[in-house]
Amino acid sequence: MAGANAVILLSGGLDSATAGAIARQQGFDLHALSFRYGQRHAREIECAKKVAAFLKAMTHRVLVFDLRAIGGSALTDEIDVPKGRSDAAIATGIPATYVPARNTIFLSFALALAERIGAQNIFFGANQLDYSGYPDCREEYIRAFEFMANLATKAGVEGRSRITIHTPLIHMSKAEIIKTGLALGVDYGLTWSCYDPHAGGHACGQCDSCQLRLKGFAAAGAEDPIPYANR
Ligand SMILES: [Zn+2]
Repeated sequence: MAGANAVILLSGGLDSATAGAIARQQGFDLHALSFRYGQRHAREIECAKKVAAFLKAMTHRVLVFDLRAIGGSALTDEIDVPKGRSDAAIATGIPATYVPARNTIFLSFALALAERIGAQNIFFGANQLDYSGYPDCREEYIRAFEFMANLATKAGVEGRSRITIHTPLIHMSKAEIIKTGLALGVDYGLTWSCYDPHAGGHACGQCDSCQLRLKGFAAAGAEDPIPYANR
């Protein structure tokens, strides 16, 4: 039996791969969406393609635009990616890797695709515990976007469709996310999290994203299958 369509935002990272696996387990047919936005770690797009195939997505679109024209982030501008920060520093404030309004931009494309294909469900691997510094990963932001989404579309206004934004990871720790994904058979060797990959294809092991990932695997009692330059 064919499931209902859902749009899944796939970054190539472990959170979105896990959110995709949860959506699949719930019986949705997945339509994946990724973005090449001028990010320093464009390698993640190749991982997103592998994850989309692994999740047996019906379609996978990669949209291309260049947020370097706006800049203002360590991921899209000539700003160094913070390395070797303490847990306390990572947990405080909004980091230099915040990309101005990025999740609003991404969710807007997801909304457009959902309307186009008649999907009422969008899955987004946002997580507010381990990225508490990102304002656009908070549940109150997600609910506000969902409210807006239902005012924004032709299908919504005509009463034919109600968009739900699913964020199954929003209250999970990184370890809980990894345990959930492993239980669903996710191959984390396909995923990429590092903000500042080394030329040889290794994750740096020192940026916030690497540190959160490595600590998550350690807390989950599992081995991270991707290669690191430094752990
Ligand atoms: Zn890194």
